[in-house]
Amino acid sequence: MTVILRDKAALRTWRAKVTPETRIGFVPTMGALHEGHMSLMARAREAADLVIASIFVNPLQFGPNEDLSRYPRPIEADIDKLERAGVDALFLPSVEDMYPEGASTLVEETLVSGPLCGAMRPGHFRGVTTVVLKLFNLVQPHVAVFGQKDAQQCAVIERMVRDLDIPVEILRGPIVREPDGLALSSRNVYLSAEDRAAAPLIHKSLQTVAAAYQAGERDAEKLAQIGLDVLAQSDRIKVQYWEVRDPESLGAITQIGARGALLAVAAYLGATRLIDNLLLGGDA
Ligand code: AMP
Repeated sequence: MTVILRDKAALRTWRAKVTPETRIGFVPTMGALHEGHMSLMARAREAADLVIASIFVNPLQFGPNEDLSRYPRPIEADIDKLERAGVDALFLPSVEDMYPEGASTLVEETLVSGPLCGAMRPGHFRGVTTVVLKLFNLVQPHVAVFGQKDAQQCAVIERMVRDLDIPVEILRGPIVREPDGLALSSRNVYLSAEDRAAAPLIHKSLQTVAAAYQAGERDAEKLAQIGLDVLAQSDRIKVQYWEVRDPESLGAITQIGARGALLAVAAYLGATRLIDNLLLGGDA
């Protein structure tokens, strides 16, 4: 049975009963759970004795013109999935409980959050770090699992944990994809049939660039152009960025060297914004 904890008070009561030798694994989500999320639950299960998930569509990480109000919220189906996966507890707080009137403190990482999605979605990562730190303080997990699908989010959270000495181990779970390569995302349900048919080109652009890298190309600008050329095969895809970046700081690079690189892409299909990425190992 998955225990459903509907507010902070219920979570605190649950947490107080966990014995000190029990390792807690935590998977924060915004719900509309798919196999990508469930792979993180499985990873947490391997790393911990008790697994707790959260579902909270965090208003703080949505921009004014983003999809907060229409974000999918199939809560009964989500609870079923967590039950079947043997997840021990679900934290399901309301917005009012998480952000009481007058809340005026924000947590901001100021370097890794800057480029890529940070540049396109002002305030997004500040919303993420604020809610994730609150969730860490409430759940007090030993280990927390995040998806490589949101590579910049992983990098920002790892930096926050390091900089603020938060006593939690961060694990990254690999990207789970559809058979045709499209990365699973709660937002894929928004895609029209035509956009869904074009969407695998995003992954194909990453693979094509990885192949060029394997063949010896190291110039970041040339590699990004190869990725853009693949996406140009469909006029339904409106690229927001296609970048070759340092894998840790996400800073700009001109050549891929010993540290490898993160290939990161964001694109619109209709009104739906999709992101994907691929980590290239370095020469070292
Ligand atoms: P979200 O509900 O979109 O906030 O995602 C919750 C967690 O699931 C985040 O750590 C995501 O990176 C992760 N996630 C989302 N999609 C995937 C995927 N296709 N594969 C692996 N992890 C994912």
